[in-house]
Amino acid sequence: TPGLYIVATPIGNLGDLSPRASEILLGADLVAVEDSRVTAGLFRHLGAKGKMIPYHDHNADAVRPGLVARMATEAIALVSDAGTPLISDPGFKLVRDARAAGHPVTTIPGPCAAIAALTLAGLPTDRFLFLGFLPSKQQARAEAIAEIAGVRATLVLYESGPRLSACLAALAEGLGDREAAVAREISKKFEECVTGSLTQLAARYAEAPPKGEIVVVVAPPGAPAPASADDADAALAEALTRLP
Ligand code: SAM
Repeated sequence: TPGLYIVATPIGNLGDLSPRASEILLGADLVAVEDSRVTAGLFRHLGAKGKMIPYHDHNADAVRPGLVARMATEAIALVSDAGTPLISDPGFKLVRDARAAGHPVTTIPGPCAAIAALTLAGLPTDRFLFLGFLPSKQQARAEAIAEIAGVRATLVLYESGPRLSACLAALAEGLGDREAAVAREISKKFEECVTGSLTQLAARYAEAPPKGEIVVVVAPPGAPAPASADDADAALAEALTRLP
């Protein structure tokens, strides 16, 4: 049926493409893509050829009105190169304009590197703040970090390998030496999640900038949360013995 379909695609392992995502991509009249070479690879995996139109930061304003008009009679899917569209990727204005025009908007949820990293890190997940990519320039990055230093939530951000060590050092400088995790190449062959304090991790990656795709997860301010409910019970029982 006509409308806009937001389709999450794998962040590495093609097996993570959901049956419903495949069905929507194969049935769509048109798929708006970031990079047609990347999405062509996904269609090859499905054994089909998709009808694609590029939709990225440089042409989105020009392409959007036409796409929205077509949603009246056609099923238009939006994908990004990897993961969930709109999350540090194009798409929010397309959704906004589709809604404003009264077209149905549906999401086909699936992989998202930020959420996947949160599940690997072993840090509290009850409250988290997604920061996308921090500014790459030193001064702007320090300001962005200072702005959120008091936020009582786990922080999740995307970073590139060459910048990782400097970013971790800047986080340590602005937030204090909190516990953190670096999740790399999630769902791919060389997936790893390295934990440590921000300064430990900064030192580790200063020696050799890591390859591949990276998510940084940083603990909230204050004491690290108890590792488990049992630990919390034990801590409480111990504290009670010290009451007068
Ligand atoms: N929309 C995507 C999502 O839902 O995850 C994110 C797009 S953003 C432009 C790309 C960044 O996501 C990468 O630079 C990296 O920080 C992170 N990323 C994507 N795939 C990843 C993976 N397999 N492992 C770790 N990080 C990944």
